[in-house]
Amino acid sequence: EFISVSELANLMDVSFAEVISKCMSLGIMVSINQRLDAEVIELVASEFGFDVEFINMEKQAEMEEEDDVDNEEDLSPRSPIVTIMGHVDHGKTSLLDYIRSANVVAGEAGGITQHIGAYQVSLPNGKEITFLDTPGHEAFTAMRARGAKVTDIAVIVVAADDAVMPQTREAISHAQAAGVPMIFAVNKIDKDGANPQKIYEQLSQMNILVEEWGGKFQSQEIAAKKGLNIDKLLEKILLEAELLDLKANPNREGTGTIIEASLDKGRGYVATLLVENGTLRAGDLVVSGQHYGRVKAMFNERNKREDAAGPSAPAVILGLNGAPQAGEKFKVYADEAEAKEIANRRAQILREQGMRAKKHITLDEIGRRLALGNFKELNVIIKGDVDGSVEALSDSLQKLSTEEIAVRVLLKGVGQISESDVVLATASDAVILGFNVRPSVQANRLAENEGVEIKLYSIIYTAIDEIRSAMEGMLEPKV
Ligand code: GDP
Repeated sequence: EFISVSELANLMDVSFAEVISKCMSLGIMVSINQRLDAEVIELVASEFGFDVEFINMEKQAEMEEEDDVDNEEDLSPRSPIVTIMGHVDHGKTSLLDYIRSANVVAGEAGGITQHIGAYQVSLPNGKEITFLDTPGHEAFTAMRARGAKVTDIAVIVVAADDAVMPQTREAISHAQAAGVPMIFAVNKIDKDGANPQKIYEQLSQMNILVEEWGGKFQSQEIAAKKGLNIDKLLEKILLEAELLDLKANPNREGTGTIIEASLDKGRGYVATLLVENGTLRAGDLVVSGQHYGRVKAMFNERNKREDAAGPSAPAVILGLNGAPQAGEKFKVYADEAEAKEIANRRAQILREQGMRAKKHITLDEIGRRLALGNFKELNVIIKGDVDGSVEALSDSLQKLSTEEIAVRVLLKGVGQISESDVVLATASDAVILGFNVRPSVQANRLAENEGVEIKLYSIIYTAIDEIRSAMEGMLEPKV
């Protein structure tokens, strides 16, 4: 037995009523959640004009099996991987640029001049920090939507001469949704009118208390442009990293995540990756998504040729037969035939996913997931036309939380539903609720592709009522 009537209907993008009536016309009586055997699936699918191909999932799973967990004694500390987020113009790029140019290992010729998506700096105390060189929460969350959790620590930059702005809030929400600890860098303190205390106060209104205000969040006042207090900020990052007790096993085959990849005229496919565990070596056979290849050459962020890259190190590699997407995992294989087979099977699955409805949460789905017993949290994103109604809706929804299921508001804000909201929903399996606002065209298209539900309301009571019913498992699946 493979999939249920409703899942089959989903796959073929027809209603389950059609599937049931087709089954009846074939003399088979079925119910919505009934699982069908291979023969019936083939029969019904062919009636709807589909050819069925069964992928041996067990074999696939076996081949893709996660590696054994490392033994504690094989682990050694690894350096933290940091993403810098914050509102536009608050100084993210300036901060990344300053750190990149100022912290070059003594003796290394030249700074890091090229942008490869990530770089690692060595500090005077011998410790290292890796920075993702694409500022902002969009890239961060897009990678997370692909299942990659690369970042250990988020630095949230807020300009002291400005205020906590919509994208500051968004960045905070995205880091919180990912469960990544935050450090606040209050920037531009060299400017007239800089008022860090005002920033701390605004953060406190979001329930974020910095240490200076008796809270748990580290913060550092900086001037990124001049490089003021950046050393102190880096120390705080290291302190946070120590608390996280980050470890990896350098003595195994490398695994990690693709940061960016492209086709270069002269060099073929070029991929920047971050090694998360193990050590990647020149000559290794790498599989990432549907692509694979032997590492022909490997470079660090200073464009220096390297033979090996260990945990938390970024590297540029040549030799893949395609460009994997950012956020795609990579893994080293010993056997070329096996590597090729895995990549090809993935390509096949990807092709099929074109017609497969993805399984993000919808209000209709809640009842079913509750019944399965593994659904504890309903993640929602709330966008509205005015702050008052966003807050009111958010408060009321949170009050709906029961012992079985908690409502978690990942992000609330004023304005149109954006692509970035949909990406966050994809990454966090959330439902988007719009109150007197609509999604942008791009957001709508992305939501459709990703199978993210957007519900639009113009009466708060209706929204609350519908979510309450959904949480009580009362919503009937749509026919
Ligand atoms: P991003 O959009 O967050 O990446 O911000 P940028 O790094 O591009 O900075 C926006 C503007 O603020 C630029 O004109 C920077 O020169 C300026 N800026 C950034 N950091 C500082 C700072 O510490 N002091 C002052 N006075 N200006 C800064």
